[in-house]
Amino acid sequence: MRDSACKGQTEHFFPPHGEQADAREQREAVARAICLSCTVLLPCREYARRHREQGYWGAENDEQRLEVRRRASRNHHRPPAEPPIAAQG
Ligand code: SF4
Repeated sequence: MRDSACKGQTEHFFPPHGEQADAREQREAVARAICLSCTVLLPCREYARRHREQGYWGAENDEQRLEVRRRASRNHHRPPAEPPIAAQG
């Protein structure tokens, strides 16, 4: 929190009630620019993913975090790769 670039600018990170898609796109573009200048981007992103936060955190919105969780879940359930076939000789 101490090092966050978004301090005092929460209006860019959480949607107002009834926000329209184009307004959201503009708001998240501003939030993204702030996040990309932030020195704690990676720990912030990890925190939000782990705690299933709502809003824009670590240059990710809710849908992007959901997609990361889905991808991780798919990879978790994938069977391990077959070992390479040994050369015969
Ligand atoms: S990465 Fe973005 S949301 Fe996270 S602390 Fe920095 S500016 Fe705030």
